[in-house]
Amino acid sequence: MSTNKKRPPTTTSSSGIPVPSDEHSLTVGPNGPTVLHDAHTVQKIQQFNRERVPERVVHAKGSGAHGFFEVTEDVTQWTNAKFLSEVGKRTPMFARFSTVAGEMGSADTVRDPRGFALKFYTEEGNYDLVGNNTPTFFVRDATKFQDFIHSQKRLPDTGMRSNDMQWDFWTLSPESAHQVTILMSDRGTPRTWRNMNGYSSHTYSWANAAGERFWVKYHWKTVQGIENFALDEADAMVAQDPDFHRRDLWESIAHGEAPEWRLEMQIMPFDDARSYRFNPFDLTKVWPHGDYPPITIGRMVLDRNPENHFAEVEQSAFAPSNLVPGIGLSPDKMLMGRIFSYHDTHLHRIGTNYEQLPINAAKSPVHTYNKDGAMEYLHSGAQPPYYPNSYGGPEPDPSKALPSWWVEAGEIGYYAYEKHRDDDDFIQPGTLYREVMEPADREHLVTNIVAHASAGVSAEVQTRVIGYWTNVDADLGAQVAAGLGHGNGSRETPVRAPGTQRAD
Ligand code: NDP
Repeated sequence: MSTNKKRPPTTTSSSGIPVPSDEHSLTVGPNGPTVLHDAHTVQKIQQFNRERVPERVVHAKGSGAHGFFEVTEDVTQWTNAKFLSEVGKRTPMFARFSTVAGEMGSADTVRDPRGFALKFYTEEGNYDLVGNNTPTFFVRDATKFQDFIHSQKRLPDTGMRSNDMQWDFWTLSPESAHQVTILMSDRGTPRTWRNMNGYSSHTYSWANAAGERFWVKYHWKTVQGIENFALDEADAMVAQDPDFHRRDLWESIAHGEAPEWRLEMQIMPFDDARSYRFNPFDLTKVWPHGDYPPITIGRMVLDRNPENHFAEVEQSAFAPSNLVPGIGLSPDKMLMGRIFSYHDTHLHRIGTNYEQLPINAAKSPVHTYNKDGAMEYLHSGAQPPYYPNSYGGPEPDPSKALPSWWVEAGEIGYYAYEKHRDDDDFIQPGTLYREVMEPADREHLVTNIVAHASAGVSAEVQTRVIGYWTNVDADLGAQVAAGLGHGNGSRETPVRAPGTQRAD
């Protein structure tokens, strides 16, 4: 908003009718009752009452910016996606960053993964890549997602968040260990959204013009460099400026410092998947860089702030099912669940025709037999509403099928993933702790775990917390035990660490 010295335009109603007063209601004399036919005041009240749409169940607090993606390396040997077809090609895009568990008014710097949702307005429709600032996730099967999120939210009786509930779920779900190691490291409290990486986390597939398929992972590497808050800094910022990340993104773009990320791809030949040492579709695992070295193929620059937060950030809706020709899915069971859940939640949150809102609308032509519903305003005119038809309606193009993948034959059942040679929930977090983290990172990890697991966590759950970290690394487990007062077999009452259990 800026101060405008020119005579401003006349206020109108939403129907464009000039408004005579925004200070006084229409009343019978100066002291008489307000009349119902003061349509402007009545409609102002009605609109106000309807200003909020339901907040997102997850990722409620966020902000976003517009920008572009530019291809910097030829990738046509791996994919025929048109927006990736030539070096130098730019595609307009919108990005939204967020915390996961907190509500819309929650503070930005609390420990949480950060959402990293990207929408590319390509010439073959919108491509959405809905990732996080972590390369992994807490669970590997979509049927556990709702339980996981419930454990991060609020207790049914007190309405408060509970670290006990979080550790109870995590320690009973050993597949969470890798993601919780990252979350409890200082990467769980990024300094700004500009100073964090983004990851597709999931494995996707690419196919080239000859139909050859590859498995891929996307890594968005911050050009600004990784910077994190230590626990006390993050806690202090909760009180100092709960909108710190939102403000930082807005101000840096407003000041002409457009943040940038480099896109690095890990690309796995299709047939490697069966025999790779880790199950490549298991969302709790990464592909070590030594096995599949990242290849830089492009860059994303965010250089324009939204004009209206509600219209663009709040109403933006991303869905991993929005894939464009040349890009497909993988047999990742979490991804399968997300393919359904995102579109479904947007239908609930912002309505049947949410894809017609300007922030979500494709910039390429839309020819669909989907029709009608609340708020439809883009339509196909007199086009026949059915297919097949003999009146020139749009026709499918079989050559645009997304890459498919094999499905192992078998009986329908409730299966765990087939285990690959090195599949174990604790191998990769152990590697992260021992081989990637610097001594200061390890020290902060212990501090962060102890602070979090001290706050309102029962003795029984704490015992499991120690076992969980001992499985990641024996020395780490010993340090956590000592920090929680469980050292040398003795147990002291855990001290509540400041600021580790609060309402957001
Ligand atoms: P590398 O040494 O090649 O890569 C290690 C990666 O770890 C780098 O991408 C680095 O990111 C990232 N990293 C550093 N500190 C942390 C942290 N506190 N939390 C999360 N990530 C961090 O090793 P490998 O590829 O062989 O993987 C070793 C371990 O590194 C894995 O088990 C996994 O835990 C972790 N990791 C691996 C990733 C992958 O895709 N291979 C991605 C991220 C983490 P940066 O370069 O940006 O500092």
